[in-house]
Amino acid sequence: MNLSLELSRDKPKIPATPVTTPSSSNPTRRQLFTPSTGYEDNSEAIKIVNQAIDLNSLEQLELIYLPGTNVHKRIQEVKKQFGMGVAKRKAKPVIQKRTPKCTAPPIRARQEKMALNEPCSFFKSLEPGIPPEFCESTAYFYRENYMKVKECLAKMLYILYNKQVFHNKLDVEITWSPRLQCTAGHCKNKADRNGVRSSRIELSDKVLTSADRLRSILIHELCHAAAWIFNGADGHGVAWRAWAARANEKFPDLPPITVCHKYKIFYKYTYKCRSCRATTHAHSKSRKRTGLICRLCKKKIKIFLNRKTKRGVRQTPVRPPLGFAKYFQDNYHKCRRNAVGGNVMRILAVEYAKEKALAEQSPITKYINKYLKFFFR
Ligand SMILES: [Zn+2]
Ligand SMILES: [Zn+2]
Repeated sequence: MNLSLELSRDKPKIPATPVTTPSSSNPTRRQLFTPSTGYEDNSEAIKIVNQAIDLNSLEQLELIYLPGTNVHKRIQEVKKQFGMGVAKRKAKPVIQKRTPKCTAPPIRARQEKMALNEPCSFFKSLEPGIPPEFCESTAYFYRENYMKVKECLAKMLYILYNKQVFHNKLDVEITWSPRLQCTAGHCKNKADRNGVRSSRIELSDKVLTSADRLRSILIHELCHAAAWIFNGADGHGVAWRAWAARANEKFPDLPPITVCHKYKIFYKYTYKCRSCRATTHAHSKSRKRTGLICRLCKKKIKIFLNRKTKRGVRQTPVRPPLGFAKYFQDNYHKCRRNAVGGNVMRILAVEYAKEKALAEQSPITKYINKYLKFFFR
């Protein structure tokens, strides 16, 4: 020992390379991380941690080993055993992931968007998805003001179809019906005594609620009329299909003329069973509004009013009528039986006003009126 000390004394002093020891105040993992660090197995990890416990440098060791390594895991175990504060991970805020909305437009819309490089034809412009800048101006006007101008549009389409498809030889009466509730249109065929065939077309107010529907249904019914008048054929047979094919050929923008329609029908009222949730729809409200019972489970039924909004159809429960509406409901049929001419509404309004005024009178006025009525009747 002495010899070695002496030898070292004799040796010229070489300036020692400064050892970069991690300062406990500002340690950095990067400096301390060596390629071998972090790949220790369990037994090695236990040994390293035990050494660190002996040297009272567990905190420093924790800074060296990254989470996920065996040593870091062992440190956490030891800390837990000794009841030392285990570094808690900051709890991530719970974010409810919403199902991402499908941003891609449906295939048909995509195809349309791709194809829309030039202005659309009159027939194509009647479809609701076509942007205004690509629309034919007349068609756009009819499309946007459909409910007001549908009769005019029907006449215009009839002239167009008759000219292009039926050689201008079709003479058909077209009427609108509120009674067709699920059927979009109907072609009534008949033959007189002399064998002269004729047709009349009825279009549904309830189903044909847009210009593109009218465009498709009218040609379907006109093909029926043509098949009957020119070929004497009924139904969707060979003659009807031939006329439909001709129409599709003449108007390539017209969707294929089909036998059935798949239009979604808007119903103003929905009847829901409170118990079994059975649902049915109706265009008009039942006269019997209270005490409606489900056919299936014999429980009460609730009526909902459907309203079209920008977000879709909104349902609100139908409330029992109040004020004049209730008076009207209770007395309409009675009044109609007795009324002369068409003054039912007027009579009901006057009677209601009288009753209302009487109800608002003070008890003394009521008594005086009754007294006067008794003597001066
Ligand atoms: Zn048909
Ligand atoms: Zn039920």
